[in-house]
Amino acid sequence: MQLPADFITKYTKLMGEDEATDFLTSFNNETNHGFRVNPLKGHQPIQESLDFPVEYSQWGYYGEINGKTSDHKSGAIYSQEPSAMYVGEVVHPKLGEKVLDLCAAPGGKTTHLGSFMNNTGLLIANEIDGGRVKILTENVERFGLTNTIVTNSTPEDIAGKLPDFFDRILVDAPCSGEGMFRKNPEAVKYWNLDYPTECALRQREILTEAVKVIKPGGELIYSTCTFAPEEDEQIVAWLVEKYGFEILPVKKYEGMVAGKPEWANGNKDLEKCVRLFPHKFNGEGHFIAKLKKPVNSDVSTTSTKRKKKNQIKINAQITDPTNEQTKLWQQFKHDYLVNINFTKLVVYRDNLYSVPFETPNLTGVKIHRLGLWLGTFKKNRFEPSYALALAIKASEWRLSLNINEINWNHYVSGDTFAVSKDLKKGWYLLVHDFQAVGFGKVVNGVVKNFFPKGLRFNIK
Ligand code: SAM
Repeated sequence: MQLPADFITKYTKLMGEDEATDFLTSFNNETNHGFRVNPLKGHQPIQESLDFPVEYSQWGYYGEINGKTSDHKSGAIYSQEPSAMYVGEVVHPKLGEKVLDLCAAPGGKTTHLGSFMNNTGLLIANEIDGGRVKILTENVERFGLTNTIVTNSTPEDIAGKLPDFFDRILVDAPCSGEGMFRKNPEAVKYWNLDYPTECALRQREILTEAVKVIKPGGELIYSTCTFAPEEDEQIVAWLVEKYGFEILPVKKYEGMVAGKPEWANGNKDLEKCVRLFPHKFNGEGHFIAKLKKPVNSDVSTTSTKRKKKNQIKINAQITDPTNEQTKLWQQFKHDYLVNINFTKLVVYRDNLYSVPFETPNLTGVKIHRLGLWLGTFKKNRFEPSYALALAIKASEWRLSLNINEINWNHYVSGDTFAVSKDLKKGWYLLVHDFQAVGFGKVVNGVVKNFFPKGLRFNIK
């Protein structure tokens, strides 16, 4: 790989010639691939090999997955580079917590955090970019996250609304991406000597807002996929100096190395951070810091009173279901669902959602996905959503239908397909290779296709 001359000079100075040679040579090696298995999907068998587990991640494996299988499309597995997996492990949210993933698209870390939370508590996944937030929502739905609200706001909007709110937050910051040069050689083109400093400025802006939303005593996990000290140790040193954050130790597995105090202000505690270098570790470049907000912090400007449990008022356009809607939903639930309870039900533009009880007032925050989308009220009937199909297990739906490879091909291309005329009319959960892949409506021996138009593809 052709690296910029300034990049080579910079890291040769920082690392010394011997180490820099190993480091720079590693840019010519192959990228490492990995994937995580989704624990929310009931541990169905998957087709990918699980022979090479990742030591530090209970759901992680080495290997490159096929993105067109039912394992992937159903969210039973998620493709994630092995170093990136360590970020979620360091965040390690607990059941029932309130967690924010501030820079979340496309959702690798969000889905990982959701694996720990097991659909309890509240996970807000925010993405500022209007295009990228759609992919984030797709991945959240595919993974079957029901405790997650996807927002499309600025850090300022979120901070203004939710001071001192979250138990822990992740800022997986937009950065100069040096650690991804191997995976995405295009990124090299954007790099120049000043680029890390420009990125660091943006990171400080984001973090200035982020620190306000963490509860006193709560945790901030800051990560980048760059080697640049300006964006790594120097940002952490700034958080400590400006806001009194305490750096917490991050465990180092084989090949991971300590943060480098000498690349910032000499604070020895920076060694508690972790660096993943591709010449030492089987993964791409990453930096991770774990910090604790001081218990007596006063960085949050106001402490607006929030509604209590079961008194959710998310914003003025979101309402309780009407009596008629409640009746339609209850009938539908009785006809199709088995032993499953949802959280608070709300309606937005004829769509029914189940939102986490912990949901705060989000007026002024742009919401992209409001918890679990259950379906849509049509004239005198209720139509289930694709998101619901991916959030339930086959045992929780009365009618399921195993489909073979040929019908799976029909389904993902958006075509109808024939089944026995004896099958009773209704909504069937379609299952392929053990994974629930979506709903189909059986009418007179034909399965009508409800695979979302935007997701359709051809297998070949
Ligand atoms: N956490 C993601 C994952 O694991 O899939 C990757 C996040 S990526 C490193 C950084 C994200 O920050 C990008 O999606 C980018 O659009 C977003 N971003 C860019 N500028 C931002 C800003 N000023 N505030 C918040 N997020 C921003």
